[in-house]
Amino acid sequence: MIGCRCDACRSRDPRDRRTRHGLLIESGDARLLVDTPPELRLQLLQAGVDRIDAVFLSHEHADHTHGIDDLRIFSLRRGGPIPLYLAREFEPGIRQRFSYIWGGGAQPGSAVPQIDLRTFEDRDVIAPAGLEMRVVALPHGVYRSFGFRIGRLGVLIDAKSVPEDAVEVFAGVDVLIMNALWFGDPHPGHFSIEEAVGVARRLEAGRSYLTHIAHRTPHAEIARRVPPGIEPAHDGLVVEL
Ligand SMILES: [Zn+2]
Ligand SMILES: [Zn+2]
Ligand SMILES: [Zn+2]
Repeated sequence: MIGCRCDACRSRDPRDRRTRHGLLIESGDARLLVDTPPELRLQLLQAGVDRIDAVFLSHEHADHTHGIDDLRIFSLRRGGPIPLYLAREFEPGIRQRFSYIWGGGAQPGSAVPQIDLRTFEDRDVIAPAGLEMRVVALPHGVYRSFGFRIGRLGVLIDAKSVPEDAVEVFAGVDVLIMNALWFGDPHPGHFSIEEAVGVARRLEAGRSYLTHIAHRTPHAEIARRVPPGIEPAHDGLVVEL
């Protein structure tokens, strides 16, 4: 947190340097990026990523979308637009917010990302980068975000709850990735860590990883306080399925 002196912000543990949520899913040759956070460029440099086949946006909040410009190198390199999947309800907002991308207003010689928007609806089965996934709308305060299941992986990003009729979609995943802010005080739009632990149990997930963690609590303390089978994620973490 800018200007904060809490234990996490003053920590020397590199796992306490938390950038905004981003996730890269690799399966065989396929590479799917989930969200384009403001630190996308730094994250992709750090991870040595040279190619992305498709992008999935969980929702349109700034912390999940404002790195979209850094997709430009991937469309340049592939010589064509990069498919970006998002719920239909977000398309007008994304087109308006990043109108320069679709407006044809680029100066000659300067590049804007070339993006091919592909929309979906709640519970659709789509296949970004060839990876078959079922998408599920998740309550996120007064808003909605979209999680998904791909095979044995479940991702619940920017969720406050899992709709009762979606529990079966995520039940029994081997790996569950969830947003969780902090211990204690409930937040209207996000799981607290205790709520996320409850969801992991309800879904009977094999291993669960908490991401989108706020400052306040250092990584080591979270790791100590959560039950077995649940871990705080950290920037650069690699999970194999
Ligand atoms: Zn802080
Ligand atoms: Zn959000
Ligand atoms: Zn967020």
